[in-house]
Amino acid sequence: MGFVFDFSAGNKDQRDLLGGKGANLAEMTNLGLPVPPGFTITTEACRAYLQDGGDPDGLAEEVSAHLGALEEKMGRRLGEAADPLLVSVRSGAKFSMPGMMETVLNIGLNDESVAGLAAQSDDERFAQDSYRRLLQMFGATVLGIDGEHFAEALDDAKRSRGTDNDLDLDAEDLRGLVATFKKIVEEHTGRPFPQDPREQLDLAVRAVFDSWNTDRARLYRRQERIPEDLGTAVNIQAMVFGNFGMDSGSGVAFTRDPASGNQGEYGDYLQNAQGEDVVAGIRNTVSLADFGDVDRKSHDDLMAIMTRLERHYRDMCDIEFTVERGKLWMLQTRVGKRTPEAAFRIAVHMVDEGLIGLDEAVLRVSGAQLAQLMFPRFDESAERTLLAKGMNASPGAAVGKAVFDSDTAVAWAERGEDVVLVRKETNPDDLRGMVAAQGILTSRGGKTSHAAVVARGMGRTCVCGAESLDVDARAKEFRVRDGETVREGDVISIDGTTGEVFAGAVPVSASLIVRHFEGEKIDDDLVSAVSRIMAHADGARRLRVRANSDTPEDSARARRFGAQGIGLCRTEHMFLGDRRELVERLIVAEDEATQEQALAALLPLQRQDFAEIFEAMDGLPVTIRLIDPPLHEFLPDLTELSVKVALEEERGEGSERDRVLLQHVRRLHEQNPMLGLRGVRLGIQIPGLFEMQARAILEAAADYTAAGGRPLPEIMIPLVASVRELDVVKGTILGVAEEVQADRGVRLDFSVGTMIELPRAAFLADRIAGSADFFSFGTNDLTQMAWGFSRDDVEAAFFSRYFDHGIFDVSPFESLDQLGVGGMVEMGTTKGRATKPNLKVGVCGEHGGDPRSIHFFDDVGLDYVSCSPFRVPVARLEAGRSVL
Ligand code: ADP
Ligand code: MG
Ligand code: MG
Repeated sequence: MGFVFDFSAGNKDQRDLLGGKGANLAEMTNLGLPVPPGFTITTEACRAYLQDGGDPDGLAEEVSAHLGALEEKMGRRLGEAADPLLVSVRSGAKFSMPGMMETVLNIGLNDESVAGLAAQSDDERFAQDSYRRLLQMFGATVLGIDGEHFAEALDDAKRSRGTDNDLDLDAEDLRGLVATFKKIVEEHTGRPFPQDPREQLDLAVRAVFDSWNTDRARLYRRQERIPEDLGTAVNIQAMVFGNFGMDSGSGVAFTRDPASGNQGEYGDYLQNAQGEDVVAGIRNTVSLADFGDVDRKSHDDLMAIMTRLERHYRDMCDIEFTVERGKLWMLQTRVGKRTPEAAFRIAVHMVDEGLIGLDEAVLRVSGAQLAQLMFPRFDESAERTLLAKGMNASPGAAVGKAVFDSDTAVAWAERGEDVVLVRKETNPDDLRGMVAAQGILTSRGGKTSHAAVVARGMGRTCVCGAESLDVDARAKEFRVRDGETVREGDVISIDGTTGEVFAGAVPVSASLIVRHFEGEKIDDDLVSAVSRIMAHADGARRLRVRANSDTPEDSARARRFGAQGIGLCRTEHMFLGDRRELVERLIVAEDEATQEQALAALLPLQRQDFAEIFEAMDGLPVTIRLIDPPLHEFLPDLTELSVKVALEEERGEGSERDRVLLQHVRRLHEQNPMLGLRGVRLGIQIPGLFEMQARAILEAAADYTAAGGRPLPEIMIPLVASVRELDVVKGTILGVAEEVQADRGVRLDFSVGTMIELPRAAFLADRIAGSADFFSFGTNDLTQMAWGFSRDDVEAAFFSRYFDHGIFDVSPFESLDQLGVGGMVEMGTTKGRATKPNLKVGVCGEHGGDPRSIHFFDDVGLDYVSCSPFRVPVARLEAGRSVL
């Protein structure tokens, strides 16, 4: 076993061990592409280092051996005075974390070797520029000195030259800057800059290891759900120099447009530049097409390599490259991040190009991306005032108050305001603000700038490089070319699909994809890409998808969106509004006659509710859950009513009605309504209530059958823990069914089942199945009951600590806790089917629309998931992806 591997020893499938960057450098090396030689220290070494707080045994020797081989190959020794080998030390985790971790270039330069580099290259300016870059990067990332100190000194140097272009600094200026930077290092660390090249190398490697655990890296991982325990690899690579004059440069490119997915040349190039210059927005870059005019040969070589990489990876790649005096070098590639619309377009284009099949195409997109495409867009026909146009870096329509720093973005977002973060350019410290904002607007940088890459990764709307805006973060404002000023708190709208920036709030309209799902005929290539992928997913999936809906309108929409029935029709809301008083009367009734009156008044209203839903879902199953409210929702608040009655009595005008009501409210008051008289318990306590609901359902079904329709009601009893509870209620329902069918002379196709939402029910599912025609797992309640915490309270109270400690990486209310709650789902299904082999089993609740959870439900063999109408297409797609 070893901790270090030469680039020629690895391949792209070893991302676990070599990190993404290392694995792909190895792959490119073995493809024979021009990659500067080097080697990779594994993630295993990083994990050992982080655990033990020091280099693992043997690492230093292995690095020495590989460094020796590299020196041999290059014919130079690291940092040698007369003719130094220089290397870069580059982080690279399994999952790309753009800009989150550290990279140091030009390791090996010191006071002596800088002279050697100057002599060898015959270019004093270049040598000094490289040295000042080393000092700057090493100072900031390895020694932890605030980068501002270096940036200010650089600005000062430019100012005294009367320029804002770093290229105007000559060798002399740069030598001065080197001296200043060395002073900054000594001042802040109490030690001179380390002159020993090997010490530089070792310190840089450790800094990369340590960068795994910075706050911003942790935050990024939480956002992106990247596990905490992977660690990063470190790549040590011979330097090539893009800062060698105007026939050198550095660039980034995509093999297709990462924003739209269309073919073409997409990238940025910067002459006489090194490393991050191109994405940092220090000077304005040129497009790849213009790069072709600057250096035709390197450009054509790059194009040929990009084509080759795309065929090899069979996917869109992004690339970092450097040109040193007319020779092209490849420094990085990986399968590129892309917007949701690009993902769909690229997937079907690649099918048409014969690179992949449709199965693969479905796997290349995700439900989360589809959900993004269903977001609204700015209304084309609305009035709007264009302020500027930048690059369409990450799609969507964002409206919010302009803010100019992360702290404000976070603070305002926390108090519930929508904000748009406006910056000249962003850097990794802006991440918190980017997370909090609806959208991000920058005045510098291209589609490959930090802002663009990170925004796309998070699915945030982003417009970048709006160069006509003059952003002044200190004054908290930006000026528009025609003189208008937008200040902190002013509302702006940004369109990440077109790159436009508007004053004020522009109204938004439905997305094309939603209109397509609604059944409108739309001639658009993105729509056809989505519909081809959806058709293939539908053809492949086993799991059926239903919707949670309790109105006829939602039911009709869900059906248009592809729902195969209703998995959860809640009936609580049908008792609110005007009907609340009837329910109140029912609950506080002191005699049967009053109760019956109230029920009789409710019956026709309920019947009408169901009639319309059956019509919308003709021929498809409709699961109706009998009422499951915490009782207090129907009664006046105890405290308020007490005060009211007390005041009335003081004035001597107490009403009898309020007094009686207060007695009942007191009697029925519960300390913990979620564990109180709800669900089946209420049904047993007030038998007429479930009976009335069953009658309304079955009469509506009978009427609709008589009218030639095909209703398929499934009556569902909530909160059952014991088979006896179910039997009691079911007896009543079957009695009603006999009556209704006899009265109307029709046979009804209906069933009676239960929710499984209490641990006891999951545990006794084999018994319960004896009395149930179907199960539906209510995973919201099941999660509350399994963890013993109330979802209305805990998320705000302590979840953030739970995230910090890695107890969850996602809220169990958002994505199913597969081990615990999922274990109960699996057990309940198995036990239920042991009693009744073709028991129909589904799930309703938030988890039915969550991609990870859907894959789990598919794997444990449920028949269907049910989710909100808007999530139905997402669930269809994920159910397809689950089997492919
Ligand atoms: P990140 O992961 O943040 O992109 P990288 O390790 O890719 O960091 O380094 C950033 C940039 O530094 C690269 O895109 C490249 O331009 C430059 N760089 C890294 N290694 C070398 C090298 N050996 N020679 C020249 N430039 C390099
Ligand atoms: Mg890189
Ligand atoms: Mg429930």
